[in-house]
Amino acid sequence: MSQSGSPTGARLLLKRLRNIMAQPGTPQARLDQIVRIIAGDMVAEVCSTYVMRAGQVLELFATEGLKQEAVHNTRLRVGEGLVGDIASHARPLVLADAQHHPQFAYRPETGEEIYQSWMGVPILRSGRVLGVLVVQNKTRRHYTEEEVETLETVAMVVAEVIASGKVVNQAELAPEEGIAVVAMRLDGTMLAPGISKGIAVLHQPDITITQLVAEDPLKEIERLDEAMGGMKLALDEMLATSEVAAGGEHREVLETYRMFAEDRGWASRIVEAIETGLTAEAAVQKVQNDTRARMREITDPYLRERLADLDDLANRLQRHLLGQADIQQPRDLPDETILVARNMGPAELLDYDRKKLKGVVLEEGTATAHVAIIARALDIPVLGRCNDLMAKVLPGDPLIVDGDNSQLYVRPPEDIQQTYAEAMRQRSERQQAFAAIRHLPAVTLDGVEVTLMVNAGLLIDVPQIEAQGAAGIGLYRTEITFMVAESFPDVARQRDVYKRAMDASNGKPVTFRTLDIGSDKVLSYWQREPEENPAMGWRAIRISLDRPALLRQQLRALILGAEGRPLSIMFPMVAEAWEFDEARSLLKLELDRASQAGQQLPSEIKVGAMIEVPSLYFQLDTLLDRLDFVSVGSNDLKQFLYAADRGNPRLADRYDNLAPAMVKLLGMIAAACNAQGKSLSLCGEMAGDPIAAMALLCLGFRQLSMAPTSIGPVRAMIRSLDLGRLLSYWAELQARPVSDLRSRLLVFARDHGVAL
Ligand code: PEP
Ligand code: MG
Repeated sequence: MSQSGSPTGARLLLKRLRNIMAQPGTPQARLDQIVRIIAGDMVAEVCSTYVMRAGQVLELFATEGLKQEAVHNTRLRVGEGLVGDIASHARPLVLADAQHHPQFAYRPETGEEIYQSWMGVPILRSGRVLGVLVVQNKTRRHYTEEEVETLETVAMVVAEVIASGKVVNQAELAPEEGIAVVAMRLDGTMLAPGISKGIAVLHQPDITITQLVAEDPLKEIERLDEAMGGMKLALDEMLATSEVAAGGEHREVLETYRMFAEDRGWASRIVEAIETGLTAEAAVQKVQNDTRARMREITDPYLRERLADLDDLANRLQRHLLGQADIQQPRDLPDETILVARNMGPAELLDYDRKKLKGVVLEEGTATAHVAIIARALDIPVLGRCNDLMAKVLPGDPLIVDGDNSQLYVRPPEDIQQTYAEAMRQRSERQQAFAAIRHLPAVTLDGVEVTLMVNAGLLIDVPQIEAQGAAGIGLYRTEITFMVAESFPDVARQRDVYKRAMDASNGKPVTFRTLDIGSDKVLSYWQREPEENPAMGWRAIRISLDRPALLRQQLRALILGAEGRPLSIMFPMVAEAWEFDEARSLLKLELDRASQAGQQLPSEIKVGAMIEVPSLYFQLDTLLDRLDFVSVGSNDLKQFLYAADRGNPRLADRYDNLAPAMVKLLGMIAAACNAQGKSLSLCGEMAGDPIAAMALLCLGFRQLSMAPTSIGPVRAMIRSLDLGRLLSYWAELQARPVSDLRSRLLVFARDHGVAL
C-alpha cells in the first residue's frame, strides 16, 4: 500500500526528511513538515508527533490529519492511552481497530474517532523515550512489519529534531525535572556483595550521531565492515591480555561475548537498516533500539542477559564507527568511580581502571548476568534491578552502593554519608579481624569443633578456601559452569573444570553437587517448554534421571577429573529415595566403565543427597544406610516447607529460617542423621548467618558450608560461644516453643559476649 514498505521507499522518505533538516526553519515548523511528509508518503490520513514534557506527560506537538486545535492541548500521561502505553514500554504498537482497544483514551478535541487503524512507535534517543510518533487510517488495515520499521527509522530523525533543542526547554529533556538536588534512596537487588561509595560515572555517555541519513549505502556498508573488523581485533586483544580472562569460566564468559561479534543475524540487520538510507552509525542505533525493546519484553533472565551483551557490543561498534574506540572511557575517572548503566557486558567492565572502580549499579541485570559474575571475581559490589536508575542518577552524583542491604543512596545527605563512612570503617576493621583469626580453628569456648566450608561455583572461588581458612568446599554448584557456557560443556571441558577445582583446593575436600538446572537456572542453549511453576517443575535430579546421558557424562567427567583422588558427589532436589538409588546406580555404571577402560578410579567415593524437599526427611529411616552423607539445602527446604518462592522479594522477610516449623524440621533431620552417625552438613544461606548458626549448633549440626565472606563472622561467633551454656538456655526455650527465637538468641549473644 505505502511506498515506504520497501527499502527503496524508505530511502526516498529519509531523503526528503533530510532535505527538511537541511533547510532553515524553526523546530516546530520542521515537525509540522515532517508529519505532513510522513502522512503523504505512508498514505496515512493522520501522522502525529507527541513530545515528552516535564512530569512524564506526552503533548501533541504536530499533526497532519487531527484537528489543529488539539496541538499543544492534547496531553497524555506516560502509561495513559495508546500513546502513553508506547512511551512506558518503549515498543511499537500496531492495531487494526484502535477504537476498541482497552487502552484507547478518547480525546474529543482531536477528532480521531473516525480513524480505525493505528500504528505508533517510540521516539528514542540513547535509550530514552523522547516522544511517540503515530500514523492513523480511516479504514481497518494491517500495517506491515516493513512499515513499522520505516516509521521507527523516521522516528530517529524526529528524535534528532527534538534533541537538537528549542522544541521544548532543554531542561525538560533532562532525565527528570528538579531531581538534581534531591537526595534519594533506590531499592535494588544485590548481585555482588559489599559496600562502597563514589561518584556516578555513566557507563555509556550519550553517543551523539550527527549524520543520520546517507547518500551511498555501499560506502556505509564498507564503513561498517571496517568498524566491525576493528572491534573484533580489539576484543581479541582484550581476551588475550585481561587479568580475569585467564581463569577458566571467565574466559568463557568473554569468549561468549566475543562470539556475538560474529553473529550474522545481527550484522545483516544493520546492513538492512543501512539499505533503507541510514548511515552506518544510525543503522547500528536502530538495531540497538530494537534490541532494547525486545529486552523490555523478554522475561527469561538468560535471554535478557544475552541481549544485554548485544546491546553493549552495539555501543562498542558505534565507537569504532565514530573513531572514538580509544577514548570511550573518561580519561579522568574519579578515584572512586561507581559505574551506572542500564546494563553492561562483561568486557565493558574490564575496560575500566580496576583501581578506581568501586562499584556498579544497573537498572537491569540478574545474579547470573555475566557482568555480575566478573564483578564478584573482582570483588566489586554490584546492585541490579534499580528501577528508573538512568532517569534518576546524573553523572557526577555522589553515590553509596550498599550491596549488602540492596540499596543505593543518590546524593546522600551528610548524616547518611557519615553513617556509611562509619559502617565502611567498621566493615574493614571487622574484615581485618576476621583475617587475623582465619587460621585459628572454629572451636567453641567449651571445645566443640565445627567444620566451616565454602560454597563455590566458579574456579575463581576455589582460592577462597585458603583466603578464609576454610576446611574445603561443602557445595560446588556445577551448574554455574553450564550457565556461563555457550553450549553444553562436553566431558573433556567438564573434566578440566573439576580437575582444576580439585587441584586448586590443595587436597582439601570438594563436594560436587551434580547439575541443578531448571527453575531460575536457565541454560540459553537449551530451549525448553515453559513451565507454570518451574521451581517445582522439571529440574535438578529430575532432569538428570530423565536424561541419563547428561548425568552420566557429568559423572564420567568427575571420575576423570579426580585423577585417583577422593571424590565426593551429592545429588540435588532428591524427593524420593528411589531417585537417589537410581542416580547412584548411574554412578556405579560409570565407575565400572572407567575401570573396564583401565582408567584410574578415585581413591575413595562418597555419595550424598541434599535435603531440599521436605518429603525426603520422611524417608531417611530407610535411606540413611545407603547414603555417605546428607547436606541440607536450607534455601530450597524453606521454600518448599512454607510454599514461599525464595526469589520473591515480597516474601523475603515473611518466614524466618528460625521460625518454629523450620527449626523443628532441621532438628528432626539432625537427630535422624546423628543417631546413625551419618555425616551431616548444611549448605544453604542460613549457615552463613551467625545467629542462625547458633541455632544449628544447638540442633546438632557440626558442619556448615557458606558464602566465603560469611566464614569470618561465623568463625568469630563460634570462637566466642560457650555452647554448653547456650544449650541450657536452648532447653528452656524448647520447653515452651517461641516464635521469636531469633531475638532470644540475640539477647543471649549480647548477654554472654558472643561476637556477632
Ligand atoms: C539450597 O537450596 O539451600 C542450596 C544450597 O542450593 P541452591 O541455593 O543452589 O538451590
Ligand atoms: Mg537448592
